[in-house]
Amino acid sequence: MENEKMKKVKEVLENNAALKHAITIMHWDLETEAPLLAVDKISKTLGYLIGESYSMVINDEFKNLVYSINTDKLKELDRKIIEELKKEYFEKLEKIPKEEYKKYSELKIISSKKWEEAKIKNDYSIFKSYLGEIIKFNKKIIKYRGYKGHPYNTLLEDYEPGITVKEADEFFGKIKNELSPLIKKIIQKNISDNENEAKEKFKKMIFDIEKQKELSKHALDIINFRFDKGVLKESEHPFTTNVDNKDVRVTTHYYKDNLLSSLYSTIHEGGHGLYEQNVDDVISDTILGTGTSMGIHESQSRIYENMFGRSEEFLSFIYPKLDIMFKLGENGINFNIFYKIANEVQASFIRTEADELTYPIHVLIRYELEKEIFDNLDNETDVDELAKKWQDKYEEYLGIRPETYTEGILQDVHWSDGLFGYFPSYALGSAYAAQIYNAISKKIDINGKMKKGDFTEINNELKEGIHKYGKTRTPEELLVNMTGEPFNPKYYIDYLKEKFSLIYGLK
Ligand code: ZN
Repeated sequence: MENEKMKKVKEVLENNAALKHAITIMHWDLETEAPLLAVDKISKTLGYLIGESYSMVINDEFKNLVYSINTDKLKELDRKIIEELKKEYFEKLEKIPKEEYKKYSELKIISSKKWEEAKIKNDYSIFKSYLGEIIKFNKKIIKYRGYKGHPYNTLLEDYEPGITVKEADEFFGKIKNELSPLIKKIIQKNISDNENEAKEKFKKMIFDIEKQKELSKHALDIINFRFDKGVLKESEHPFTTNVDNKDVRVTTHYYKDNLLSSLYSTIHEGGHGLYEQNVDDVISDTILGTGTSMGIHESQSRIYENMFGRSEEFLSFIYPKLDIMFKLGENGINFNIFYKIANEVQASFIRTEADELTYPIHVLIRYELEKEIFDNLDNETDVDELAKKWQDKYEEYLGIRPETYTEGILQDVHWSDGLFGYFPSYALGSAYAAQIYNAISKKIDINGKMKKGDFTEINNELKEGIHKYGKTRTPEELLVNMTGEPFNPKYYIDYLKEKFSLIYGLK
């Protein structure tokens, strides 16, 4: 009986997965290849497909079927599938009326394109009314879905289950108190003329785009990203998307005057990609066959990008190749300088280009702004005021004031796509990564492996500890499983203090 019902549920999910497959690929196309004027048609088609996908699962017949199943009689995986269905579809999605949901999906697509245009032109007026609409929709969504404690908790829950304003306040409080003094010391420290000159020279160098492409491909090969079940392309804002564990797509962005940007974007997205490629075959085709949360996802991208990718040992492995490709030595960039450039701490405007130490401050700023936006669900957010608050916070926390919108409120894609509550997972992910790194280092000589660019054993640890489970385990279960304790930000703070005090000679 229960098995018969489960079979019917799976049939519906399989058909829905086919629609989602089409939606994913059209989104991918929109971000990578589609011409500008194709956007209207694509957004209509996507709106239709998303509406169909919604109706397929949000209806009384399917709901009754799902709720009629006695989950005690199911195998563990099937039980978890039913639990996920109830949570994602009937506790979240169903609460939003179909027409609203469809309108919102279309709005997000247009709004993302307006954002892109506004960002390129540094013209906030192109985008700000859309931002206002998106915020309004999110406030409505919170009302439809309800909330416990702070209204913002409902959005946080979508990206990092288990983290509420209470936990986030505590975490970001530590970031503020423990890291700000160190950042201040480093920024005020005098750097030798020689080092400064070399750094300036590096910033003025031009790096052939074709060679950068070759390097990005090489970097993915080193970390064992599989090209028989993945691809690398280009987009304005690097991202990863996947259909299942055999179709994982990552993007990067090449700038001719910035070698490190494409290299580290590629390694970052490669980390996301490995997570998805390593999900176990048994669950890959189910709704649990993807990363468990954005925070855990970010822990995987950032452990590759920063803890492995920006380590002295990994850089010593890859430097000779870079030297040959881009004539670094000839231009006065020896290895020591290069290591310092890859880990240069600066008060800067752009989050995605920020160094590891100031990075969480960029996230803290977004967290505080979002928390304030959703503090009150009934007022209309003043989007001009919001842009000014963005500037004020940069001045307050990093001592610099962005004078263009492109360097300020327009820099990130997230808000244009309705992704409120997402940013905190970037900083949480970095902190998870430090805790995970610490656990792996007790078993494997990570530095020894990095010197040889050998990721085999490290990848295996991450696959067995995290990747293969997909969504069948919660973030907290994974952390306890892998590190023996729940989330503890101490590892992250210690790691940052240790690494950057050493680089800047403060020890
Ligand atoms: Zn990421």
